[in-house]
Amino acid sequence: MMHHGLVKRLVEEMTQMEIIDAHEHLPPESERLKLKVDVCFLFSHYTRNDLISAGMSPSEYERMLNPEISLDERFSILERYLHFIRFGSYARPVFIALRDIYGYNDITRQNYREISEKMAEMNKPGIYRKILVEKCKAKFALTQAGRTDYTEPFLIPILPLEYVALVRSREEVERRSEELNMTVKSLDDYIAWMKRRLETWKRDERVIGLKTSALPRKEPPPTRERAEEAFKAIMNGVASEADKNDLNLFLTEETFRLCAELDLVVAVHSGVWGDFRRLDPRLMIPQFSRHPETKFDLYHMGMPWVRDTAFIGKNFPNVYLNLCWSHIVSPMMVRSALPEYVDIVPVNKIIAFGGDYSAPALEKVWGHLVMARENIAHVLAQLIDEGRLDLDEALWLARLWFYENPARLYGLSS
Ligand SMILES: [Zn+2]
Repeated sequence: MMHHGLVKRLVEEMTQMEIIDAHEHLPPESERLKLKVDVCFLFSHYTRNDLISAGMSPSEYERMLNPEISLDERFSILERYLHFIRFGSYARPVFIALRDIYGYNDITRQNYREISEKMAEMNKPGIYRKILVEKCKAKFALTQAGRTDYTEPFLIPILPLEYVALVRSREEVERRSEELNMTVKSLDDYIAWMKRRLETWKRDERVIGLKTSALPRKEPPPTRERAEEAFKAIMNGVASEADKNDLNLFLTEETFRLCAELDLVVAVHSGVWGDFRRLDPRLMIPQFSRHPETKFDLYHMGMPWVRDTAFIGKNFPNVYLNLCWSHIVSPMMVRSALPEYVDIVPVNKIIAFGGDYSAPALEKVWGHLVMARENIAHVLAQLIDEGRLDLDEALWLARLWFYENPARLYGLSS
């Protein structure tokens, strides 16, 4: 390859850089320490998709990760499918973590027990710091695990938007309002509760954003009158599904408005999963236009709508493009789309990395980061080759994407 030396140089420079890991699903470390980890755990999380797509049944997958069952039996399940997924990009972080963290080049019949012992040995207090801070050089990792009880100062929580915008019953309203010693009788009271809830999460629990998803949502959203009617129906215990949905849609809009007011970011999942037509990033365009003061962090390049996503980033000043997860969904798609992003989107809108893993797959954050650096180095080297950037400018872009843009968007200061 023409720019091989340049790629290597860029990767080396990036390896020295502090980063912000802009999206994870990590619970507090204590949850990771509770797990009896072994080699099969390396195939938890996203590799599940590929294993099941390759033919592993969901119940075999459950057995593979059930520590009550013997490791021999569980490894045999894995072994039957591993060769079908090992060249895919979901599997690659496993092999990078295996090499760089545990010191093995492959998983075989001969070494799977030894690897498992080593993993158990290393699963002790401090493993988050060791992998995220020391290895990945993450100054902060933004994590959405539906909780805020982190003791590690580098983990910053993001919560599901549904925690405030989805209301299913009177009991739920009462439970929520009691938490904050408030009385909620009307829709207005509930909106006042939402505001207080978001303020206290931000002030007392370091919450910096809420996460939602691109979804087909009714346009225009329900009116306040309709929402009041639906809220009443819920409080009277006679709500239909339509009432619940309409109230949720109305409150989602209210939450976007409050996030602008309180300077919280709205993170938006888009693409990839299941019937991904329902996760099309373009479905968010009405919300992006209606809430110009709200900052949206649009995740995953909207894969496979990577190109459409670039135009969203270009046309909406309030939308940032976060490449979390994208590098392992498809490095090739990132490498072909990112040069187009440089054409189309101002460089201060792009965020390079989020591992997007949960506790059993912690090691793979490192593998994912290695892949992200490679992808970005390839893209920057190509732009240097074409004479569009010099090396210093390329490194400036890498710093923006890996650190400064997420730091600015989320208001993270050293
Ligand atoms: Zn995620």
